[in-house]
Amino acid sequence: MSKAAWLAYNTYRKGISYRSQLSKTAALLNAPRADILAFQNEQLEKLLRHAYHTTPYYRELFKTESPDISQIPTLEKSNIREQLERLCSEAFPQEERIKNATGGSTGAPLTFYQDRNYWNQRNLSVYCFDRWAGWDFGEPQLIIWGALADLEGDEHWKYQLNNFWRNHYWLNGFHLTDATMRTAFRQMDKSHPQTILAYPSSLYQFAAYLFENSLVPKWDLKGIITSAEMLHSHYRSFAESVFGTKIYNRYGGREVGLIAMECIAGHMHINCRDLYLEIDSPDPYTQPGDILITQLNNYAMPFIRYRIGDIGRLSDETCPCGNQLPILAELLGRSTATFRTKTDTLIHAGYFTQQFYNVIGVDQFQLIQESLKHCVLKVVINTQWTETARRYMVQKIQGALGADVIVTVKLVEEIPLPASGKREFTISKVF
Ligand SMILES: [Zn+2]
Repeated sequence: MSKAAWLAYNTYRKGISYRSQLSKTAALLNAPRADILAFQNEQLEKLLRHAYHTTPYYRELFKTESPDISQIPTLEKSNIREQLERLCSEAFPQEERIKNATGGSTGAPLTFYQDRNYWNQRNLSVYCFDRWAGWDFGEPQLIIWGALADLEGDEHWKYQLNNFWRNHYWLNGFHLTDATMRTAFRQMDKSHPQTILAYPSSLYQFAAYLFENSLVPKWDLKGIITSAEMLHSHYRSFAESVFGTKIYNRYGGREVGLIAMECIAGHMHINCRDLYLEIDSPDPYTQPGDILITQLNNYAMPFIRYRIGDIGRLSDETCPCGNQLPILAELLGRSTATFRTKTDTLIHAGYFTQQFYNVIGVDQFQLIQESLKHCVLKVVINTQWTETARRYMVQKIQGALGADVIVTVKLVEEIPLPASGKREFTISKVF
């Protein structure tokens, strides 16, 4: 598909000229530092005023429409869980809110709201940052990502049509088998993707399969984008050598969108167009601390100084790539597990967290694969817990890992945090 068709399709969907939106976004992301920080500051002041005037939660917290941001108490996941409605803007009726929730294994399950402009701005930024990795508007991309529909045998034609228009090819990262990886490899030999977008662990799995079977990609890849999990250095070096191209790591979260993107020089640049990032540390340039995000576009439910659950540090270096967005020097503390079944199928941990985040009666859970035949599911329940919820969770586990897998459900008071301080939703002892 051509770039013109891709732009026309997006213009049709959004009802605005997509070409001009994209060039505005790209110009801002490449602007001199002073310009981008001035834009960010203006957006921040606007958001704080909006939050004060239209949300009960922030009105009580701020006391004024232009508070000093460094004095605003941080937004914790527990605040969102307990005060969801008070965090929502009165300016947005229920039907204009878009419900979302954390998947992956990167934080406690959490439900929240976003609006249409948030999603539009998020996509514009993603498209512009993806061009750093060699992708261009409308060009084919192989996506190795979780798709629940496929795992449950649902064809979902609307989804397929969307992929056609976006020029996306999917390999289900939740469910990688030799057969699906071979099919994807053959398909890519025909469609020559310019870029791959993948979970690091799924990319590693695909690379290992190609390597072991002497399948050499001849796709003229310009780059690979990884996201949603910690990118381990051995994953990076192995996948870069198999595919013969550079990996560009993208850091983001469902709650706030794209946070930072790696450039050609290997630095993570912070997305100051869409968010204001702080490090909760006495000296954010030398001592790593919790990352706090203020999302600048989500007016339906403002996230202000949101503790996302990752740890980072800032750098004051000037990047040789020429981009002037500030640099996130270190990103620590994201991990996940992959489950292996008796038939040697791999199930991505994100599958379980997506299935379980909204189970009524469940405050927290942790799934531990002890062996190919036995799993332990630890659950912290609340008063709404029922036998139906227990059956649902066990069925989902057995559906993915095997009907004869024994699932021991343990109702516990708490699930202790590991030394890293990052909650682990899934642990596999099978590898
Ligand atoms: Zn750079």
